[in-house]
Amino acid sequence: MNAPARISFVSLGCPKALVDSERIVTHLRSEGYELSKTHEGADLVIVNTCGFLDSAKAESLEAIGKAMGENGRVIVTGCMGAQPEPIRARFPDVLAITGPQQYESVIGAVHAAAPPRHDPFVDLVPPQGVKLTPRHYAYLKISEGCNHRCSFCIIPHLRGDLVSRPAADVMREAERLVGAGVKELLVISQDTSAYGVDLRYATSTWKGRELRAQFADLAAALGELGVWVRLHYVYPYPHVDAVLPLMADGKVLPYLDIPFQHASPRVLKAMKRPAHQDRSLDRIRAWREICPDLAIRSTFIVGFPGETEEDFQLLLAWLKEARLDRVGCFKYEPVAGAPANDLPDSVPEEIKEQRWHRFMAAQRAVSAARQKSRVGRRIPVIIDAGGAQQARGRSPWDAPEIDGVVHVTGRRPMRTGDVVTVRIDRADEYDLFGSLV
Ligand code: SF4
Repeated sequence: MNAPARISFVSLGCPKALVDSERIVTHLRSEGYELSKTHEGADLVIVNTCGFLDSAKAESLEAIGKAMGENGRVIVTGCMGAQPEPIRARFPDVLAITGPQQYESVIGAVHAAAPPRHDPFVDLVPPQGVKLTPRHYAYLKISEGCNHRCSFCIIPHLRGDLVSRPAADVMREAERLVGAGVKELLVISQDTSAYGVDLRYATSTWKGRELRAQFADLAAALGELGVWVRLHYVYPYPHVDAVLPLMADGKVLPYLDIPFQHASPRVLKAMKRPAHQDRSLDRIRAWREICPDLAIRSTFIVGFPGETEEDFQLLLAWLKEARLDRVGCFKYEPVAGAPANDLPDSVPEEIKEQRWHRFMAAQRAVSAARQKSRVGRRIPVIIDAGGAQQARGRSPWDAPEIDGVVHVTGRRPMRTGDVVTVRIDRADEYDLFGSLV
């Protein structure tokens, strides 16, 4: 039998793109393809691109260039593939370009370039699929696309309107992952709180019972699986209130990732943000009353077209009131094809820069105080990198890759994927330091 074709895979962009990559790799592995760690020596390279910001596009083009230089047989997929012209113009020799969500086209292109080896007797893929994330945590994508039309965003244009997976489908995937040893499920989508709207919250049968395709119902069902469940990309709609009791009861992690983006009603309106009319500070206050341990992570954009000093001051005041735990801030960057590019009153680069620094300084003080409030507590920590006496893990308030970590020392070995109890001894701005109890 011929040696199996070897594929080098580059996955760029957000966790959602990573989930797409995992699906493509799972499919290819099931057909006998092998993964190569280097471009050199591989039969071909697949680059899963991100086309959200111009800087992400530049990174994608660079990755394609590298793959062309080191291998020369390259298939491009992902968000940037939705607009193939600039890729073709720069790399006329790429084998194929396919858009996001087009698994069949990617697989078809791979078959054409390096036909699969047929071996019906070997089951090469475990039932839970192949994961590119470490074994103890996995992303769980519950829907694709978005019904909103934020003026700075081209995702709906690239990925279309919201399409939710039936609840039973999501639960079956979650169960398979847990059965394979996953200890933490990271629920992702473009707008997790909108889950099921397109299905009119239709029920599907899971374990003999009817489960609604609805945000809080799904969170409750996932909470029954006995692993950490973390919710990303949630908007502060009133119906989100229903997950707070699940968090207070320890069924779902007390963590919400809410991309607020701004606080000034004028800017939010220009951004066309979902749920911007709701009184977000009141909502946060009410959530913390139900679940005092709640951690909120968010991202913001400063220097959006038309943002005045007054708008920015409003944002700073809001930030101090909201006391968010983890915050990322971006200087507004135009995205080709986004409606916000046509808005008047663009903010000069040096003002954006100043506002970014002022924003970060204000948040630094808040983060430091939030971190300090954890000192002295005993908390569960999931170990990401085990060790004999020292290990690195995360608290319920920290998502992988984007938040802080917990450095743990102990007298017994800690294995990756273990959930251990740690006493927090000290904290810096981002990380916690503690000892194994
Ligand atoms: S909610 Fe807004 S920013 Fe998020 S994907 Fe939808 S349109 Fe884009």
